[in-house]
Amino acid sequence: MSSDPNCVFCKIIGGKIPSRKVYEDDEILAFHDIHPWAPVHFLMVPKRHVDSLAQVDESDAPLLGRMLALAPRLALQEGCRPYPQGGHRVVVNTGAEGGQEVHHLHIHVMGGPRPWLKG
Ligand code: AMP
Ligand code: ZN
Repeated sequence: MSSDPNCVFCKIIGGKIPSRKVYEDDEILAFHDIHPWAPVHFLMVPKRHVDSLAQVDESDAPLLGRMLALAPRLALQEGCRPYPQGGHRVVVNTGAEGGQEVHHLHIHVMGGPRPWLKG
């Protein structure tokens, strides 16, 4: 499994930087964002280092599909109210102009009562 020694999320996956874990399996880790924008805000990352959504291809579709399908379940687990009154936002910032700061592919999952810091 590829890992980048200089990548903050690879360090979290490797246990070198602590995180508040939401979910883990052999391919995926989810943990709370350190600077939450919303009452519920966690990140889902593939354990394999991928720079961004711009690098994925069709072979990554099953993993990405699994991550997306898992997001609502984890959102409920973390305290988001059910759809349609509740729900959550899913964001994947990609590249500098996409607002990406950490270059390890991650899905933001945000929810909870508004107002939120961003959006
Ligand atoms: P982005 O701008 O999409 O690249 O978002 C990166 C996110 O990672 C930001 O919301 C940061 O607050 C979050 N982040 C950075 N370092 C950590 C960390 N050590 N633990 C948890 N979240 C982090
Ligand atoms: Zn990484």
